[in-house]
Amino acid sequence: MNGAAEIFVHFARARWFRTFRDRAALERRQERGMKRFRRELLSRLPLYRDLAQLPLGAFPIADKEFVRERFAGLNVLGLSYDEARGLAERGEERSGISIGMSSGTSGNRALFLVDAHERRTWAGVMLALALPPGGLLRRHRAAVLLASNSRLYLTTRDSGRLTFRFFNLRSGLDAHVRELEAFDPTVLIAPAHVLGLLARRQSAGALRLRPERAFSAAEVLDPAEAAAITQAWPGPAHQIYQCTEGFLGITCRLGTMHLNEDYVLFEKDWVDQGRRAFNPVITDFSRRTQAMVRYRMNDILIAADRPCRCGSPLQAIERIEGRRDDLLVFAGPAGRRVILFPDDVRATVLDAAPAAGDFGLVQATPDRLELALAGSVPPEQHAAARDALAAAVTRLGGSVPAIASVEYQPPLDHAAKLRRVRRTFPWPEEH
Ligand SMILES: [Zn+2]
Repeated sequence: MNGAAEIFVHFARARWFRTFRDRAALERRQERGMKRFRRELLSRLPLYRDLAQLPLGAFPIADKEFVRERFAGLNVLGLSYDEARGLAERGEERSGISIGMSSGTSGNRALFLVDAHERRTWAGVMLALALPPGGLLRRHRAAVLLASNSRLYLTTRDSGRLTFRFFNLRSGLDAHVRELEAFDPTVLIAPAHVLGLLARRQSAGALRLRPERAFSAAEVLDPAEAAAITQAWPGPAHQIYQCTEGFLGITCRLGTMHLNEDYVLFEKDWVDQGRRAFNPVITDFSRRTQAMVRYRMNDILIAADRPCRCGSPLQAIERIEGRRDDLLVFAGPAGRRVILFPDDVRATVLDAAPAAGDFGLVQATPDRLELALAGSVPPEQHAAARDALAAAVTRLGGSVPAIASVEYQPPLDHAAKLRRVRRTFPWPEEH
């Protein structure tokens, strides 16, 4: 089967056969997928060979460190982390497998192996889920704006009814605006804050784009950005939940995020069950070249409290709250910790300081917060925002930190991920 035909098969499967009657039908698909995954990948890997036929609970929980240290035991080529990184940096393939690298700035970049089959599967599935009604019956132009130094992204790819163009935010946003308008995308995919910026320019008449669907990817979609997007273009603000670890979720036609449970098993590691907040622990059984088994993500997801009206049995997510590093943690009663979620921080700050155009909050130590408000905010609103934050911590039973007002630094670099709320010390384990 040639590349385009294979993409189409996966497109068709995802678009027309993804509809599971109920949860039981979905679970049968997961069982079949896991069986093949155990046979075709896990039983070949030194690290998992002996576990391959055991229940999932017998596998160790993995994280970034685990993957880096045991990299050679996790991929079919037996490449060590350093070998794989060398290949990724030189853009070289090995046995038809290419190696991608996350775009982070830290020394510990995530690496991922992908073969042509995996790439085409994901392309087909993502297209199927992202394209507006009518799909490939009409011509579509998909523009993807992301910061990447990976050669896995081609600049332009034309496959008949679909033209795909990648705009690299590493060279800034303004460098691309005119070309983006000329391309006239029907599907637009960009990080949330870039999409919000484009939407505001559109509403102000300074930009002319008319995507039928606009997706935010790669960072948390803030309500203010979602509002700007829905004001600029028709339909709900869509989201793609994709990261180095895989393609994990996408919004349905109603705008509800659903997890891609037909390709990935999600275990819930609860952070706060009352709030339905969890870290997903993922097992991607669509992988063929590198195992991703019981990998604990840093992301915090909030599970929806009821099924989506679209009828899909795939787990509905109320929202992606951020990363674990975005949760503020305070000392609570009896040696416990209390958690302030970024969503609460945002509501608290912006309610108390309505003049603030934007804000940033950093928790550098358990007992110190630094709050920055954007725009000309009167001093009494700065004070009100600090008081409101202190009150929010008190309500949780936490010990109130010192809260300082600092100068707001606007994000200059569109290649960087925008994180308004950040904790810069490690997550405290409970005793
Ligand atoms: Zn839905």
